[in-house]
Amino acid sequence: MAADNQESRSAWCETAPEPQPFPELASDARTGVLIVGAGYTGLSAAHHLAARGVDCMVIEAHQPGWGASGRNGGMLVPRPKKPLTAIEAHWGRDEALRQRRLLHEAIETVCELVADHGIDCDFAQDGYLAAAHTPKALDALAAEVRWLHQAAGETEVQLLSRAEISEELGGGAYCGGYLDPLGARVQPLAYARGLASSLAARGVPIHGSTPATRVRAIEGGIAIDTPRATVTADQLVIATNGYTPPGLFPDGLAQRVVAVSSSAIATAPLPRNLAGRILPRGRTMSDTKHLLNWVRLSPDNRIVFGGRGDITGRRADAASYKGIEDALHALYPDLADVPVTHRWSGLVAVTRDHWHHLGSLSPRIHFAMGYGGRGVAMSTLMGRYLARLAVGEACDLGPVTAAFPPVPFHALRIPGMKLTAAWYQAKDRLGL
Ligand SMILES: Cc1cc2nc3c(=O)[nH]c(=O)nc-3n(C[C@H](O)[C@H](O)[C@H](O)COP(=O)(O)OP(=O)(O)OC[C@H]3O[C@@H](n4cnc5c(N)ncnc54)[C@H](O)[C@@H]3O)c2cc1C
Repeated sequence: MAADNQESRSAWCETAPEPQPFPELASDARTGVLIVGAGYTGLSAAHHLAARGVDCMVIEAHQPGWGASGRNGGMLVPRPKKPLTAIEAHWGRDEALRQRRLLHEAIETVCELVADHGIDCDFAQDGYLAAAHTPKALDALAAEVRWLHQAAGETEVQLLSRAEISEELGGGAYCGGYLDPLGARVQPLAYARGLASSLAARGVPIHGSTPATRVRAIEGGIAIDTPRATVTADQLVIATNGYTPPGLFPDGLAQRVVAVSSSAIATAPLPRNLAGRILPRGRTMSDTKHLLNWVRLSPDNRIVFGGRGDITGRRADAASYKGIEDALHALYPDLADVPVTHRWSGLVAVTRDHWHHLGSLSPRIHFAMGYGGRGVAMSTLMGRYLARLAVGEACDLGPVTAAFPPVPFHALRIPGMKLTAAWYQAKDRLGL
């Protein structure tokens, strides 16, 4: 992995609070629940455990929010990767309704955490736009809207015409789309850092620069080695998602996901003549392409625009962001003269069945991962359910808690990713 690709400065650094340094764990410790990874999954698990009075500790290889949680689009997307209509067709209406309820619960959970910890992270529930890149994709979005109206009784979700989506976005040539008022946004790095700082102030031990290097079962618990100390714990929560190290955790956990690089760029703050015209209502948008694009404004009025650069995460040169810049300028030709000031990437975890998964590897080891590009709200919610697993409560979330299949031919994932990306790119070009 090219270090600079994973270290490049995102636009969120410009408006997030300065990072509070979380020191390395320097001496052996004991805790009830050890959480490995301080992104939203791990920090939310810590919040929900601490709220129950359970003794817990977080260790993070870098610093809280260093992973995808500090670099994402900050969009709380109320739409699962699999359309709700497809979930109903395969798993039945009750399951589709449960998954929609979980999306509500996920966004509410972020809202609760932000309020409870008083996190200054620009949380706003201004709505989410789905934009169709072909007439066929618009038909599928229209079916989703009908489903939300008829099956879920959510009549406030609105189908948008070509002219309406263009007015919402302040540009573009999408065929139409829909507006879901449930959608919300955060400044992602401020959310992660704010949550970590507040948890620490409430007495939850959080250690940065402390990678777990070995996990061992011991009499009556688990021992987790780090470079300078060993933690013994009753329970272990794995919250490493796209950064899960191969071979560290039992049962080939790392081979059940493929770490895919997702990229974003940001412009300089918009000049006066464009501010107010692009995304005038502060909504967020993602489109229906196979290699999708998304867009939103930042708190300092930049356009933040995402897509796939180098899907393997191995390249960090400006050329690997060119496709994203071209897509931005196709959507907003007026931005051609506004400099792109930031380019960055992070790893998301993709699963074989495209569901995120929550579960236990043993009565003492629990995990949640595999959110793809839809993890801001969902990882926060999975933190709540991880806390339940860690105190011995059962969780049934349908396909999310069902068997977590390994990715076949995992060793060939890099060429596999390149082939898949090329195939998706071709389909997008041909409008398929
Ligand atoms: C560019 C980009 C845009 C995105 N946009 C959106 C969006 O708009 N909306 C949305 O819903 N989702 C989005 N996502 C996805 C979302 O960011 C993730 O799903 C979510 O942040 C996952 O959180 P997490 O806590 O599970 O993982 P992460 O935030 O990746 O945290 C995992 C942590 O584990 C740590 N770790 C790994 N190994 C060890 C070890 N051995 N010891 C200790 N610590 C370890 C890592 O350092 C890392 O900090 C985007 C992702 C990217 C990269």
